[in-house]
Amino acid sequence: MGPVGGGRLVGFSPKIARMVPGGIKSNPEIALRFVLSHPGVSCALSGMSTIQMVEENAATASREEPLSEKERAQIMAALDETKRLADLYCTGCGYCMPCPHDVNIPKNLEYMNYYRVYGLKEYARQAYADLGVKNIEWITGLKAEYCIQCGECEPKCPQHIPIMEQLEEVARVLGGVGKVHIV
Ligand code: SF4
Ligand code: SF4
Repeated sequence: MGPVGGGRLVGFSPKIARMVPGGIKSNPEIALRFVLSHPGVSCALSGMSTIQMVEENAATASREEPLSEKERAQIMAALDETKRLADLYCTGCGYCMPCPHDVNIPKNLEYMNYYRVYGLKEYARQAYADLGVKNIEWITGLKAEYCIQCGECEPKCPQHIPIMEQLEEVARVLGGVGKVHIV
């Protein structure tokens, strides 16, 4: 199978691997098993561009049981816990927006969640690198490093997130930028 989760799951995540009892070979494998284990699903469509992907998918779909009830329950519990952790940081509600300097606050913090909570480091770094650079119609705004720390957004956040501090962390961790870009 090609990259799953809109490309988010292209890289291996040890955190996701640990959610699955007995471990997994790849993210596409567990994604397919997870979908096929849903009682309402009898067919899964998967993009494949190489013979190897076809063979991997055929082997995965040929399993007698995609996931046991116990495995599915353990994965759901781990996902619930991970979602709870992600929401501790930023729920993506967007109440802090718009930023007068065009920083896309929720998107920057979402990428940090992928990095920190889900362990999707490769995806998070690439998505951050593309923000405000690659022409993606539905993702607009600028990277964390363009925050000038005016403070306008913080009082609007119902989660009381220290947005300026977190954006500095995003710029440092995902962008390798020591200091935010003050203009
Ligand atoms: S503190 Fe940064 S992110 Fe918040 S409104 Fe000001 S420039 Fe935008
Ligand atoms: S208001 Fe707070 S929780 Fe909502 S998107 Fe902005 S930073 Fe995230």
